[in-house]
Amino acid sequence: MTNPQLLPDAVDRAAHRSGQVCSLPPSVCGVSLHGWVKCGGGISLFVGLIKYKLLHQSILLLLLLLLFQLLRSGHTSYSLGRTLGSTFTFLCRYSLYTRTKLGYMFYKRQMKKAREKYPAGHSRAQPTNINGIKIIPVPVLSDNYSYVIIDTASSLAAVVDPADPQFVQACLEEEGVTLEAILCTHKHWDHSGGNRALRRLHSSCRVYGNLMDNIPGLTHPLTDKDTIDVGTRLRFRAFYTPGHTVGHMIYLLDGRAFGGPSSLFSGDLVFLSGCGRMFEGSASTMLSSLDTVGSLNDDTLLWPGHEYAEDNLLFAAEVEPGNVVREQKLQWVLQQRGQRLCTCPSTLAEEKQYNPFLRSHTQDLHRALGLQQNQDEDWTSYRARVLEELRRQKDIYKAR
Ligand SMILES: [Zn+2]
Repeated sequence: MTNPQLLPDAVDRAAHRSGQVCSLPPSVCGVSLHGWVKCGGGISLFVGLIKYKLLHQSILLLLLLLLFQLLRSGHTSYSLGRTLGSTFTFLCRYSLYTRTKLGYMFYKRQMKKAREKYPAGHSRAQPTNINGIKIIPVPVLSDNYSYVIIDTASSLAAVVDPADPQFVQACLEEEGVTLEAILCTHKHWDHSGGNRALRRLHSSCRVYGNLMDNIPGLTHPLTDKDTIDVGTRLRFRAFYTPGHTVGHMIYLLDGRAFGGPSSLFSGDLVFLSGCGRMFEGSASTMLSSLDTVGSLNDDTLLWPGHEYAEDNLLFAAEVEPGNVVREQKLQWVLQQRGQRLCTCPSTLAEEKQYNPFLRSHTQDLHRALGLQQNQDEDWTSYRARVLEELRRQKDIYKAR
């Protein structure tokens, strides 16, 4: 999940506008929480939660609704109230998505809709084979990628972020391989939602991730720079990269074991020409995580968690219109997406040339954002400020 702006379908929107009670919980509702309460959804959800004995969730919901109403009722000045109100609405949705069963219910609903809309996946992807190591992007949900990584000599496999277990299982069966490990980047359901279902099918499979992120089905908690071996030729190094979530991890497949380039599975930290939103960390934290990526070899292949290339490069074009490498990549991506083809992998050498979120050190970007380093500001703090402004502009761009 990179953006919890959780939109209902047209029918549910119409129900809101006409004042009917809608079926969506507030965490998945694109209409404001206030509107949702007004149309009666809050009451029906509360009754539903009590009915299903979700006492914890119902108390949390009641407290959230009470606080929200206080903010809206003129106890604060108008503009402060609006700011606090929108922040609070976001926190409500995010908390409900990440901390309660409502988030899981929403994910299941999104998965069902995506399967109906894209029975063969949202994009067409080809496997990459490097000296007998096969990397297969599996398009899942509406724009996520899971990755199946196979050592063809031993027929052992690992999978990164199996969000839709049905699609990943079909890939494993088609390849006739044994699943040894699930590498989970972070807790958001669109990355971790299939862990338990896959593990039920592969009982000896290990589930890796960070304990702080509450990864479903976790069996092997990781810390920074831990290694994970699958057979003799698949060796991953985990890096702790907080910012998007408090326990976000990325996984580097070491190319030295099979004589090829390394591969980075970056979850929602870095995308082609973009980076994830800072839901659970400051700009300084995120910068430190992005610097981890920046320190890896230029020939590393980047396999991100979402197909966001086109949108990200269009935003980069606004920030750095004169960047020739970015323009060439954009033209290639437009061609690929015109045929719904997958755009990964790129290389870190490419990303360092056009991904604005990996370029907070460049003067071109500083000029484009109209920022200057203050006299009493150290270089890292300044770069964090650049990153924060960049993220702010990207969010405005997305909302347009
Ligand atoms: Zn996410």
